[in-house]
Order: sequence, then C-alpha cells, then structure tokens
Amino acid sequence: MMLALLLLPWLALPVTAGTLLVDPAAARQSPGGSMDYVADPGRQLGPAEIRRLPGWLPVKGENPNFGYSHSAMWLHSRLINASPVPQTRLLEIGYPVLDNVQVWLTPSSGPPRHWQMGDKLPFTARPFLHRHFLTPVDIPAHGSVDLLIRVETGSSVQVPLTLWQPEAFRLYDERTSLILGLYFGIMLSMLLYNGFLYISLRERQYAWYVGYVAALTVFLASLDGLAFQYLWPMATVWNDQVLVFSLALTLFFGTLFATNFLHMDLSGRLANSAIRLTLITSLFGTVSAFLLDYTLAIHLMEACGVFCMPAILCFAVYRAWQGYKPARFYIAAWSFVLLSGIVLALDKYGLIPHSALTEAAVPVGSAMQILLLSFALADRVQQERSLREQARVDMLHMQQQANTVLERRVQERTVELMEANLRLQELTVTDALTGVYNRRHFDEALRQEVKRALRTGDNLGLLIIDADHFKAVNDTWGHQTGDLCLQIIARVLQENLQRECDRVARYGGEEFCIVLPTTSPEGVRHVAETLRRALEQTAVPGPKGDFRITVSIGAVSAVPQHPEDGVRLLATADAALYMAKESGRNRVSVRDGLDA
Ligand code: GH3
Ligand code: MG
Ligand code: MG
Repeated sequence: MMLALLLLPWLALPVTAGTLLVDPAAARQSPGGSMDYVADPGRQLGPAEIRRLPGWLPVKGENPNFGYSHSAMWLHSRLINASPVPQTRLLEIGYPVLDNVQVWLTPSSGPPRHWQMGDKLPFTARPFLHRHFLTPVDIPAHGSVDLLIRVETGSSVQVPLTLWQPEAFRLYDERTSLILGLYFGIMLSMLLYNGFLYISLRERQYAWYVGYVAALTVFLASLDGLAFQYLWPMATVWNDQVLVFSLALTLFFGTLFATNFLHMDLSGRLANSAIRLTLITSLFGTVSAFLLDYTLAIHLMEACGVFCMPAILCFAVYRAWQGYKPARFYIAAWSFVLLSGIVLALDKYGLIPHSALTEAAVPVGSAMQILLLSFALADRVQQERSLREQARVDMLHMQQQANTVLERRVQERTVELMEANLRLQELTVTDALTGVYNRRHFDEALRQEVKRALRTGDNLGLLIIDADHFKAVNDTWGHQTGDLCLQIIARVLQENLQRECDRVARYGGEEFCIVLPTTSPEGVRHVAETLRRALEQTAVPGPKGDFRITVSIGAVSAVPQHPEDGVRLLATADAALYMAKESGRNRVSVRDGLDA
C-alpha cells in the first residue's frame, strides 16, 4: 500500500511511448514495447544527430523485429525509477548474431556510459562474457536513464530486450544453461553413438544422419552464441560464415537423409528434381558462405529451407500414405519440431504464458526429433538387415533345392546308365537277328555246364539243329524270307523248351545249338523229337503264300570227363547231325556218350 501511495504521483503521469517505469518488484521487464525506433539508411549518424532526427516511431509489439535491413536501426527509451532506492538492472539483448550493437546509457545523475558489442568484435571485448549481449544499467533513486541502442547487422535485425534483476537473471541463466547443456549433450551423444554405428556397420544412412546432427548442432550452437563463446571467441569473420555454412550443410544432409530414409527416389520424377535442386542449392550454399554477402547467402539458404522442408514432409506423408512404415517415424519426428515451433510462436505473441516449458520448447522439440530419427534409423536398418537375412535364407533354400534336384537327376542318369549297360551286355551275348544267345555266349555257357557236370557227374545233353535245304529257301523266296524263317525257327525252339537251364544259341548261318543240362540220352531224344515236330508243323509266310521247312538234329548225351569235353560234345553232335542229314533229313540222330 505504502509503495503504491509513493508511486502514485509517477503512475498518474501519462506514460508516453518511449518511457518504461522500472518496477522494483519485477524480476524481469520487457522494455521493447515502450521504445521508439528510427532507421539510419546511411549508417553515418551519431547519437547526437539521431536524437534530433524526426520520424521516430513507437515499436510494435514486445520484441523489436525489423527483418533484414542494411540501415542502422536506432532504439530509444527512458527508464524511470520512481522508487527511493537506486535500481541495478541488466539489459539483455537476446539475439547473439547481431554484428554491431552499441548502447548509450545517460543517467539523470552520474556519468554517461557507452558500450560497444556485437559478433564483429572479439568475444572478450564484451562488458559481460555472456553469449547474449548484456549491459549493466544503474538507475538513480527518483531518477531515470536515457537508453539509446544502435544495431547494425547483416542478419535479420531482431532486438529482443529484457531488463533483469541481476539475481533473477542469474537464476534464469542457470536454468537456460542447464537446458542448453542437456540439449547439446544429447546432440553430442547421438552424434558420437551414431558415428560409431556408422564406423562399425558402414550403413550410409548413418553417415547422412551424423552429418545432419553435426551440422544442425553447429548451426544451433552458433545461433545461440555458444559456439562463439566457447569454440571460436576470436574468429569474428568465421562466426558470420559458419551460420550459412552449417545451415547449408544441415539442409544438404537433412535432404540426403530424408531421401535415403524414405526411399524417395522411387516417388517419381517431380520428387527427384526437387531433391536434386535442394541438394545442389545447399551445396552451393556451403561455398556461398565464404564468397557471397552474408545477407544474400542466408536469404538463399532460408529460401531453400522454406522450400525443401515442407516438400520433404509432403513426400513423407505421401510415402506413409503409400504404406511405407518408416515414413511414419519420420513424420512423428518432425511433428515434434513443428509443435515446438508452434509453442515458440504462441509464446512470442503472448498467446500462452511464458514459462520454463515454453522456453525449452525448441531444444526439447529438436532433441526429440533427433532421438526419434535415431530410433527410426536403427529400426529401419534392422528391418533391412532382416530382409537381407531372409533373402540369404531363401537363397540357401533355393541352393538346397537345386542340389536335391541335381542329386535326383544324377540318380536317374545312373539308373539309365545301368540299364544301358545291361542292354549293351545283352547285345554282346545275343544274336542280332534272332534274339537268342550268340555263339560266343554259347561256348562260354557250354564250358560252365561241362564243369558243373564234371562236379555232379550228371549227363550233359547237346543238340545241333540245322535247317534242311535252307539255301533253296533263300534262292526261292529271297534273303528277307530266309531271315524271317531263321527268326521263326529260333522262336519255336525257345517256346518248346521246358527247363529254365536249357539254352538256345544261333551257332552260325542256319545252325542252332541247345545245351540241355542233366539230360539222359532218352531225354535228349525226346526234346529233339519235340522240336523237330514243332518246326515241321510251323508255317512260314512267304511272298507267295505259306511254306514249311524242316530241320535235322544231331544230339548227344554224355557224362563229361574233362573240362575241355565241350569240344568233343560238339563234334559228336555234329557227327550225329551228319548222320541225320545222310539218312534223309527232317529227323533226329542221338549218340549216347562221346565219340572217341
Ligand atoms: P542242308 O539240308 O544240306 O543243310 O542244305 P542247306 O542248303 O541248308 O545247306 P548249306 O549249309 O549248303 O546252306 C546253308 C545256307 O543257309 C547258305 C545260306 O544261303 C543260308 N544262310 C546262312 N546264314 C543265313 C542267314 O543269316 N540268313 C539267310 N537268309 N540265309 C542264311
Ligand atoms: Mg548248314
Ligand atoms: Mg542246312
């Protein structure tokens, strides 16, 4: 109450524009809204001349923001202390990238002060070694301070002003530093972590991500004045260039990352050319940081960013709509940045109460984006790996299948080969014309049977069958009919044999032999007679009707005494055949025992 009463005469005064009543109880005040401003396009005028200049206008809103301007911008206000206690304040200009900042403080009593700051001067030249521009303001009791500020910069002319109680500023600065420390800590650890992942996995997407995070970190650290304070406090030229350079790299890597991450090159020609344009412009931006005028270069990069970020987000939405799952992660990551942007804007326009939360919105949003993108990246790389693994398993399976098929083919071929071998073997033992055994096989079979008979002491029978007047058949009906006749004889012989072990062979020309194991002279005679009769009754189809042929058979049955008795058996049967022919053909002649 007392304070209010004391202040009454001052409060009653009309507080015109260009005046700020300093509140002894307020931790912070924004003098921006109570300031007048004027532009000096020639940038030549001093403080005395500028004061006399007509055309001073009140600042609109709380935060003086004049956009890009080559003029020197002047701000003026009178800070009034109505209290009986002298007030000490800190004036903060919270935009670290301003090139030249000058502050004149003229108190109603005491010496005037002049401060020169800005990032065109080495960091150490500042009155307070802080990333923002700080000046001490002492306002005498029941007095005032005339505040005059001149700002000249290639960046956008923003002059966010705060008048702080020194202790309140300390607390605020502690909290902000903590948030910034946390933020850059997260950025740095993501950078290192994903950098190591890149080194070990060699996945290119990690490289783009690391590039993006590194460039963004440098850009934000420069924009916050932290980089100037801690990394290059003397490098005033570089401190200007690094903003464009790091912003260009952020755009470049951000676009590469998005392209890769969203598989955007598949989304059509329009997307392709938009991406290429952004990449080329941002690459050009990195060079332009060192060659072009700062304002021009930053304009170029801002235009590029304004174009490429919504474009990439649109592609992300498109890809998500196509059902590409990683795109959802990407949109979620970016929605944090958008959300923090909205919070910042609402806070700036005073639509939501200013708090620690609104202040931390941008770092929190950005950190969330980086964290989510890293997670999404890991997820995608994992997915790709499992796809590759699946492909490998499929390949292996296919190989196994191919092997199985191959094995089966080899087996089939082996069986075919065995069959062919068998056929070949048959061919070597059979007579081509008649299909019965050939002479070679018969000689061998006879030898075997002689040995067996030697062991068992059984009789061995042998027949030699010779077609009668066969020459006449050939002469009369031709060789083809002769051949057919031989085939018929062979078939009839085979059909009329009873035992499995009896073997028929063509011995040569129109002569056949039959070996009859374990057969007595009577048995031999019986078989021979049966065959002779069967042949006698068989009709052979000739070109002019059927005809008949007969055979003469010489037969023998004996118990072999010697392994080579096969020859003697043949000779004996041959002699018997001669007898049969001699005694008129179409008959059987049997010998009991071998000829001497
Ligand atoms: P024989 O009653 O005295 O046995 O009189 P043959 O005419 O049968 O006697 P020969 O041994 O003089 O004649 C055998 C004939 O058999 C000679 C040949 O024309 C015929 N011949 C031999 N081998 C084949 C053959 O493979 N195919 C044909 N078509 N004829 C054959
Ligand atoms: Mg003959
Ligand atoms: Mg004959």
